[in-house]
Amino acid sequence: MDMMLKAKEDIKRRLEYLKTCTIANGKGVTRLPFSEEARKAAEYLKKEMEQAGLEAYIDMVGNVRGFLPADEPDSQVIMMGSHYDTVKEGGEYDGITGVVCAIQVADFVKRSGKKRKYALEIVAFNDEEGMMFGSGCLGSKALTGQVDQNYITSLTDENGISIREWMIKWGSDPDKIEELKLNLENVRAFFEIHIEQGPVLDTTKQEIGIVNCIVGLLRCMVTVEGRADHAGTTPMHMRKDAIEIASKTISKLDEFALEEQNGSVATCGFIRAYPNAMNVIASKCEFTMDIRSPKDISIENMKEKAVDLLEYHTDKVGASYKFDTKLRQKPVYMNQRLIDMLKEKCEKHQYQYREMTSGAAHDAMVFADKVDTVMVFVPSKDGRSHCPQEYSSYADLAKATQIVFETICDMMSEE
Ligand SMILES: [Zn+2]
Repeated sequence: MDMMLKAKEDIKRRLEYLKTCTIANGKGVTRLPFSEEARKAAEYLKKEMEQAGLEAYIDMVGNVRGFLPADEPDSQVIMMGSHYDTVKEGGEYDGITGVVCAIQVADFVKRSGKKRKYALEIVAFNDEEGMMFGSGCLGSKALTGQVDQNYITSLTDENGISIREWMIKWGSDPDKIEELKLNLENVRAFFEIHIEQGPVLDTTKQEIGIVNCIVGLLRCMVTVEGRADHAGTTPMHMRKDAIEIASKTISKLDEFALEEQNGSVATCGFIRAYPNAMNVIASKCEFTMDIRSPKDISIENMKEKAVDLLEYHTDKVGASYKFDTKLRQKPVYMNQRLIDMLKEKCEKHQYQYREMTSGAAHDAMVFADKVDTVMVFVPSKDGRSHCPQEYSSYADLAKATQIVFETICDMMSEE
């Protein structure tokens, strides 16, 4: 059978089964880590990996792993995968498409019967989204040695049940968690196919996105302390209006992002005022800033401009502010050689493609500073994701599968 046709049919068959691995009567797909639905999906993925000729098993944090040996023992391994958990009421494509495409790549590699300089390991990662324990990428962090006893004991779900306890329910021995750590020197490369989850490829009618960078991130909570006073009797020049000061900063965030001219973004997604009453000047206003950029210096620039404004406006009226950093991640960059190889495949098949940054975090991010890593995006219809409306076409997924397969084939015989 024609390779692209087979890819499309296998991808479709697997995705149609996997969308049934969800809580009953929910909207979209809800497949939380360690749940019954996750177990059902994991068992299915294991079977599919075995059918593709891989030695497959489910590991102690719930990653599903399939292994295809190299020609020579003790060879390096090329890894490929994505996650199989979802957000609550998410779509049928986020994460799981990357797993299904990876199985397809392994199937093609095995069938090709060609020389294998490297082993191939396919991973369906557990708990990338962080829906249950607040911190995501559990599966990929465990494999890269970033999960220890303290991590699995201290992170709990909303009922206070720790990752450690969930691992025991899953049938694992959490005392052995550190044994999951891979020898990363032994990993030749990491590939991840993922849906874009944004509107760029769909808008430009391009079929493939080759990711060059996963953006860095600053997430913080700002608290402005002013003074509550009567909204009618306090003259304008005698106020310490916390909302007024906060809004003067918030309203500039878009300008700060645009000034960087590199695709930086800045968002205030949360505001809370006190006492939050119509006729009272606000005594306090809390708001968040979520700042992302492919350049770390841009994140610092935007933060500094926001802090300068806060400083200026609080100073002017004798108010104060507090700046609390919740999360700070540096941008990570994909491997240039792998980017070039994938581009060459797109050109060979005349696929419309672009290089782009990823504004969202992925398992690939966890590998990127330790292993040669690259990501391939497929278009998301109308840019929708993390919702039941999520859609990517089987044809686009097959194209992504094809270019990754061909790139891995080239690597399998590299000197
Ligand atoms: Zn995802």
